[in-house]
Amino acid sequence: MKNQAQGRAGQAYLYGRRGKRFTDAQERAGQAYSYGSRGKKIHRYAGKSRLGLFIRALRKKIHTYAGRGPMQYRKNRKGEDLSILGYGCMRFTRKGAGIDLDKAEKELMAAYRAGVNYFDTAYIYPGSEAAVGEIFERNHIREKVNIATKLPQYLIGNHAALDRYFGEELSRLRTDYVDYYLMHHLTDLAMWEKLKKVGIIDWIREKKQSGAIRNIGFSYHGNTENFLKILEDYDWDFCQIQYNYLDEVAQAGRAGLQAAAARGIPVVIMEPLRGGKLVNMLPEAAKKAMADSSRDWSPAEWGLRWLYDQPEVTVVLSGMNSLKMVKSNCRTASEALAGSLTDADFETLEKVKRAILEKEKVGCTGCRYCMPCPKGVDIPGIFRCWNTMYTESRREGRTQFIQTVGLTREPAFASQCIRCGKCEKHCPQNIPIREKLQEADRDLRPLPYRIAIQAARGFMFRKPSEKASRSPRQAK
Ligand code: SF4
Ligand code: SF4
Repeated sequence: MKNQAQGRAGQAYLYGRRGKRFTDAQERAGQAYSYGSRGKKIHRYAGKSRLGLFIRALRKKIHTYAGRGPMQYRKNRKGEDLSILGYGCMRFTRKGAGIDLDKAEKELMAAYRAGVNYFDTAYIYPGSEAAVGEIFERNHIREKVNIATKLPQYLIGNHAALDRYFGEELSRLRTDYVDYYLMHHLTDLAMWEKLKKVGIIDWIREKKQSGAIRNIGFSYHGNTENFLKILEDYDWDFCQIQYNYLDEVAQAGRAGLQAAAARGIPVVIMEPLRGGKLVNMLPEAAKKAMADSSRDWSPAEWGLRWLYDQPEVTVVLSGMNSLKMVKSNCRTASEALAGSLTDADFETLEKVKRAILEKEKVGCTGCRYCMPCPKGVDIPGIFRCWNTMYTESRREGRTQFIQTVGLTREPAFASQCIRCGKCEKHCPQNIPIREKLQEADRDLRPLPYRIAIQAARGFMFRKPSEKASRSPRQAK
């Protein structure tokens, strides 16, 4: 074992079964070893000995099957413990038209028994709130867990709607209070301002005073600048962001995470594995980099450990829908310490990222030095979605584009570019931004998508009187 303080001081050691001490350097060089039952020396991490490999695999299987090292906890603003692994209740296995409740119950309860105390759902996850409510009631554990759910803020048109949706959620969840309540899917300050106009601030105050809401927060999918503005605008108890080793500079990003932590605001992480893509869609070179490392971690474990390494992260949500996944993630959450990744681990992850990013169309790092564009073009957002088309799938890239660029209240399309060149003067990657934006736009918005986005924007943002007066060209 090595402890955190030793790790920070560069004195990290591992101990063999007979108390032999190994330095990280020895470990990396494949010199760390332990002894088999007959006293035979076995290299622990070199990956050269068949017996060593067998023992490593067996030990991991036993730990995974047990799935219950002591769960680790980090604190909320009141000093209460939150399990560092949270249960994302969006991906329950479905059966017919609904959720397979018996299967979900087994998985949820296995996580609960392993120490998970944070369960995240939302009004719009089909059947999820009702399933969570029923499972907790059946097992009499409501008082022992934290329920996080979300206000569908995009459906709120007036003050009365706040109580209507909240009341419906309480009824589905079979409870009279919510531990963590989030404004769902904010992407810019304008959305929060709209809620303020219908009286959300007084409403929150009243719900907190009555105990119906214990902690108030928001989940976020816009850019870093808007995240910081929302963070500044209210005394939040927590927030939730998309964050993983590939999205270090996308959305709220590391800058957002650290800004929240600096204000003492706990951060819940969603999409730690990019919806499973950092597990299921890794290129061969990325898999090889992991296999060549001294760690016998799965791709999921690499993703989770990268997050747990950062003390600013409070809870990592995982949408678990098998017992194997629950047990494996619980084991990781019982082992992974903040500040425990070594230089060699970061090198491995750099290789993995490089292998993924090699497939990209444009070398944009998301640094945002080119912003703001005087015409409102979301340059890094457009490039990120374009790259996603080639590193993940065309459909995923276009979906992300619609969500994060196409349907924001203020239009941010490449077609708004007037080719002033201001952005290119600031780009450290020397990207010919004007030229690449046009290419990206053609790829991301073929005609059917262009028409669909235009129609959706017309429905969402334009007043009926404006529809008749604006020409299709203006609406481009
Ligand atoms: S060249 Fe286009 S994208 Fe760049 S700053 Fe000017 S208007 Fe914005
Ligand atoms: S400055 Fe260049 S690398 Fe940075 S976000 Fe803008 S385009 Fe991307």
